[in-house]
Amino acid sequence: MEDQVEEIKRKTDIVGVVGSYVALKKMGRHHKGLCPFHSEKTPSFMVNEEMGLYKCFGCGAGGDVIKFLMEIEGIEFREALERLAEKAGVKLVSRRRDDNDERTKMLEVMDLAARYYHWLLMEGNAGEAAREYLRGRKINEKLMETFNIGFAMQSWEGVVNYLIKKKGYSEELLEKVGLVSRKSKDGGVYDKFRGRIMFPLQDAGGKVVGFTGRILPSLAKDDEPKYMNSPETALYHKSRMLYGFFQAKKAVREKRRAILVEGQMDCISSFASGITETVAVGGTALTEDQVELLARLADKIYLSMDADEAGSVAIKRSVELAEKRGMSIKVVQIEGGKDPDEIARKSPEKWRELVEKSVDVYEFIMTAAFKKFDATKVEGIKKITEEVVPFLAKIENGVVREVWAKRLADKIGVATKGVIGEIEKKISGKQETKNTSEERGEVEEKRIVKLARRLIGLLILRQEAVKVVAPWFGGVSVAGAEGKLITWLLENGENQPVDELVKNIPEELREVAGEAYMAEDSEEVPGQKEVEEAAVQLLREIIRDRKKEIMEEMNLARREKNEEKEDEIFAKLNELNKKESKIIAFLG
Ligand SMILES: [Zn+2]
Repeated sequence: MEDQVEEIKRKTDIVGVVGSYVALKKMGRHHKGLCPFHSEKTPSFMVNEEMGLYKCFGCGAGGDVIKFLMEIEGIEFREALERLAEKAGVKLVSRRRDDNDERTKMLEVMDLAARYYHWLLMEGNAGEAAREYLRGRKINEKLMETFNIGFAMQSWEGVVNYLIKKKGYSEELLEKVGLVSRKSKDGGVYDKFRGRIMFPLQDAGGKVVGFTGRILPSLAKDDEPKYMNSPETALYHKSRMLYGFFQAKKAVREKRRAILVEGQMDCISSFASGITETVAVGGTALTEDQVELLARLADKIYLSMDADEAGSVAIKRSVELAEKRGMSIKVVQIEGGKDPDEIARKSPEKWRELVEKSVDVYEFIMTAAFKKFDATKVEGIKKITEEVVPFLAKIENGVVREVWAKRLADKIGVATKGVIGEIEKKISGKQETKNTSEERGEVEEKRIVKLARRLIGLLILRQEAVKVVAPWFGGVSVAGAEGKLITWLLENGENQPVDELVKNIPEELREVAGEAYMAEDSEEVPGQKEVEEAAVQLLREIIRDRKKEIMEEMNLARREKNEEKEDEIFAKLNELNKKESKIIAFLG
């Protein structure tokens, strides 16, 4: 498996793959373009052929070609690998053959079922009433095709006849994918979906993993639910499903936003009105997996809801999840109809307008709270604060948080610091506060990492500098992956073409190497002097850092009046001082 992944990566032209999504321009050693994972006006997104990696220096996205495909298409590792394997002409062998075979079989039978239902809707006599019904709801043939909509006959043995009797699939397999139910423990099976309009649930790659069946009103019986979903199976996980994601993802990526609606009908009608970046969450609260899927392609999530829902637990949860992933949330306010489906069907223009008129979620919650409670009374103000503050406390960015705190304070007519105090009370309940010396330590570490990465990039480009620089690092160790990589380069990196060098770099250090290398985007090979200076800067910083630590130890020893220890530390300090002056001398 591992070898195959490597083989596929080797045979894949990363510039070609990325280039089919992003306009790339060759700049020196790298290709450069506008990052598809965040919005930007000047390119900070790089692709490098020799390294087989991409990296955005704006948002930090980066990795190999498989990761790129996963992120941009919102698909799983396995599927990305399959697609690349096919292009590269590599036949994938799976280690867990049985699992893989079963999964393939399940997908195959779901695909056939979807085709069967779709055929019944489009061509079958039995589908006539369903076709009429959909047309009445302004879902034309083109939309039926786009969303692969189907129809399940009012029969106990539709798929049973077609998939089991005709195509020879086993009852067990159909049971496993949730298309049939069993009468009793050892009885036969029957169709689960009957007399329903079938909406296939597709994964991000377009594969059918489940269905939602909506009862056709003319066939409805009292005891049957209006909507019926596939059960959770090995293929279908409700919490990961976003209906319409496959159809919407291109627009989501381009517009960097996703409009969230509740049901299939809402989704299709919104799509038909021209808001093609719409997905449906399917009646449940937004989940972490769904946000994850969207965060790969968008920066903003638009929730559609009416004012009654403001302040609900579901919104709180959505806001929290989005904030955690650095996404912002807007609210499309439902007006002039009971849901997006009704509004968009009545007037596509009106729906588009509502989407464009969307407001920031915090504003929406504030406005709703002011409508609900009386802001002229102390009790009302207390209630408003209690409703709004928990939301504001979830805002990750401190500046943004303060802006909203000020708005709330202005509206209720108190000083901003009062509101901020309330927010802080909420936050401090949950968050551990970092002490300042810890924070300072982090800043220093970041500086060292930066300098170390710069040196790595330069050493890869000018390997002849290794000879000169290597002895300087005697007795000085650099922390982390960067340190390991520097040590490795100083020992091994000499006179190799970059792509050869990359192959030899230990796997776990390759990403750091790639990122450091891609950060060097000047067209010229750096001069010897430049490399030496970078090495000296790094060494000085490390020594300075170490000296600070030693001084702290020294202070402690003094306070304890431990003279022996003091002498010992003093000797260490002396050693470092010597080292430092030696290093400064290298610079000449
Ligand atoms: Zn980016």
